[in-house]
Amino acid sequence: MPLEIVTIPCLSDNYAFLAHDPASGETALIDAPDGPPILTELDARGWTLSHVLLTHHHWDHVDGLAAVLAKQPARVIGAKADAHRLPKLDQAVAEGDTFDIGGEPVEVLDVSGHTIGHVAFYMPQSGAVFTADSLMALGCGRLFEGEPAQMWASLSKLAALPDDTIVCSGHEYTQSNAKFALTIDPDNVALQKRSADIDRARAAGEPTVPSVLALEKATNPFLRATDPVIQARLGMKGADPAAVFAEIRARKDRF
Ligand code: ZN
Ligand code: FE
Repeated sequence: MPLEIVTIPCLSDNYAFLAHDPASGETALIDAPDGPPILTELDARGWTLSHVLLTHHHWDHVDGLAAVLAKQPARVIGAKADAHRLPKLDQAVAEGDTFDIGGEPVEVLDVSGHTIGHVAFYMPQSGAVFTADSLMALGCGRLFEGEPAQMWASLSKLAALPDDTIVCSGHEYTQSNAKFALTIDPDNVALQKRSADIDRARAAGEPTVPSVLALEKATNPFLRATDPVIQARLGMKGADPAAVFAEIRARKDRF
């Protein structure tokens, strides 16, 4: 049975997620930006935390952990590569490792680029991937530590998941991402439509996260470095996709 996934807005624009198995009662928290909204959501649903999955070491993904664990002790899982700068882990994981939540396998993907040691958690039976600041709705995380080729490899790994995968990313940046995406890919009808949908959702105060992978592949410029139209627009026809990605990322940094 698929896990029930709940999105929790935290801080000014972060998202945490709960993944709950009704049969066993096991509940995982993915990232801990801030304690109170997470504890409030758990209390409102009467759920007991069993696991916390940390995607990367940035403060806006871990600073709420101590407050959460003080009320709801749980097994903390994060990247071995980041263990020296993450909160104390009960289990350190790396690419290819699998563990389970309520009997459902969770696969660890290394998606370094935003940071070295950033991981994503893929739940194939639920068809969801928790990407935080790697693949984001219509965007990707800034390259604080990794190289463009590394981030391109990470995004390509995520893009290879099934098209109907739900992408649970870490921030509500989608509206400004859409404005940038339209400068790269202005004639993309799917992108134009998505941009209008995002404006409508935000005007109504609704989140634009999670999103669906097929729509990201059709509209997110950071997944489209192999697209001949985008390559031509950038004057990079036939170039190495990693170089095209690097150019798109550099333009976003200046946007
Ligand atoms: Zn981050
Ligand atoms: Fe972040």
